[in-house]
Amino acid sequence: MNQDMKIFEKSESEVRSYVRSFPTIFTKTKGYKMWDKAGNEYIDFFSGAGALNYGHNNDHMKQKLIDYITNDGITHSLDMASAAKAEFLEKFQEIILKPRDLDYKIMFPGPTGTNTVESALKLARKVTGRTDVISFTNGFHGMTIGSLSVTGNAMKRKGAGIPLQNVVTMPYDNYVDDQSSVDYLERFLEDSGSGVDIPAAIILETVQGEGGINAASFEWIKKIENVCKRWGILLIVDDVQAGVGRTGTFFSFEPADIKPDIVCMSKSISGYGLPFAITLIRPEIDQFAPGEHNGTFRGNNHAFVTATAALDYWTDDKLENSVKQKSQTIMTFLHKMVENYPELQGEVRGRGFMVGIASDVDGLANKIAAKAFENGLIMETSGPNDEVFKLFPPLTIDDEGLTKGLAIIEQSIKDVIK
Ligand code: PMP
Repeated sequence: MNQDMKIFEKSESEVRSYVRSFPTIFTKTKGYKMWDKAGNEYIDFFSGAGALNYGHNNDHMKQKLIDYITNDGITHSLDMASAAKAEFLEKFQEIILKPRDLDYKIMFPGPTGTNTVESALKLARKVTGRTDVISFTNGFHGMTIGSLSVTGNAMKRKGAGIPLQNVVTMPYDNYVDDQSSVDYLERFLEDSGSGVDIPAAIILETVQGEGGINAASFEWIKKIENVCKRWGILLIVDDVQAGVGRTGTFFSFEPADIKPDIVCMSKSISGYGLPFAITLIRPEIDQFAPGEHNGTFRGNNHAFVTATAALDYWTDDKLENSVKQKSQTIMTFLHKMVENYPELQGEVRGRGFMVGIASDVDGLANKIAAKAFENGLIMETSGPNDEVFKLFPPLTIDDEGLTKGLAIIEQSIKDVIK
C-alpha cells in the first residue's frame, strides 16, 4: 500500500474516531473550493463544520498574517500582553460589542470550542456555588468530560467509558419552540423544594448543529432567559457553531433580544481556521482568580491577527445582508426539494447558512451526502441518526458557487432516489 493509500485508509490519524469519510486526499483550497491530489475540484458546503465562515485562505486574513510573520511578530505569548492580543481585544469591543450594546469581558479559555464551554461551566458553578447544569437533548457542547456531560447524545457520552458523574445534565425533549418545554422546566424548578437542586446554569445552542439543525424560536429563547432571571440561573449560550454570522447575525442570539451571562465562541472566531476561542463574561460575574483557569495555548498571536482582520467584515452590514439574501435562495431551494422529491420524506430545518433537510428515510441523508461528494460537493450529515444533510457554505460564497452547489445537491438527490 502506498503512503497516500495508508493516509486515506486511516483518513484522519493512526486511529479512527471520526465517523465521516471523504475518500480522497485534499491538497489545495481557496474560498469555497477544494482540490484533491488527482486535481478534482469540490465545492465546500461543509466549511470545517463552521470553522471557515470566511472561506479557505481568505485573502484579507492571509495578507495580514503574511505581513505579521514577515515582521517577526510574536507567535506564542501565553498570557503575556502582546500588541496583537491588545488590538484584538480593543477591536472586538469597538466593532462587535459596543454597537450591540453588549457589556462583556473577554477571556481566552484555551484554543478550542470545548475549552470555552469548560470555562463557562466552571465559572457558572463557582459564581453560583451550585453544581447542576441544565442542557437540552441533542445539544452538543464538546468532547472533554465537562462539556460532554452537558452534551445530549448517548453515543458520544459512551465515549467516556463509564457514566459521567458529578456533572449533572437534565436533557429533555421538545427543544424546539413549544411552551411545554418551558412549562416543564418551570415545574422542575418549582419542585426544587423536594430535593431537586436549582442549577448553576442553563446552556443552549440557538440552533443545534451536531444535533440535527434544530432551530429554537426566538420566543422560546427569550422565555428561557426569563426563567433564568426568575430563578437566578446563569444563561450560557454556546455560539461555537451558530455564531460568527452563521445564522445571519454575528451572535446567533441577537434577534432573540437576550443578553446571556456567558457566551462561548470558537470555530470561525479566528477567521482563518486557526484554533482559537473566547468566552464572553458579564463583568459582574468575572470571578476566576488568577490561575483558576489557564492553559498553554491561550496566546496564539497568529490567531489574534487573523481574528482581528476578520472583524473588518463586521464594520458594515454587507456580509450580513448577503447572508440573509442568499439564505432566502437556499431556503427556497430546500423547500422546492422537499416538495418536488416526496421520496425524501424531508423536512427543511435551520436558519441563515446553518440549514439542511432531515429525511425520515433511514440512511438517505448519508447516501445523498456521499453521492454529492462523487458529484463534486462536500457536505456532512448530522442529527442523532445522521438523518439531516447539512448545507454549510462559507458566508463569503458568491452567487456562482451557490448556484453550482445547489445544482449538485439536486442532481445527487435525483441520482439517489431514482
Ligand atoms: N459547541 C458546539 C455548539 C459545537 O458545535 C462544537 C464542535 N462541533 C463544540 C462546542 C466543541 O468545539 P471543539 O470541537 O472545537 O472542541
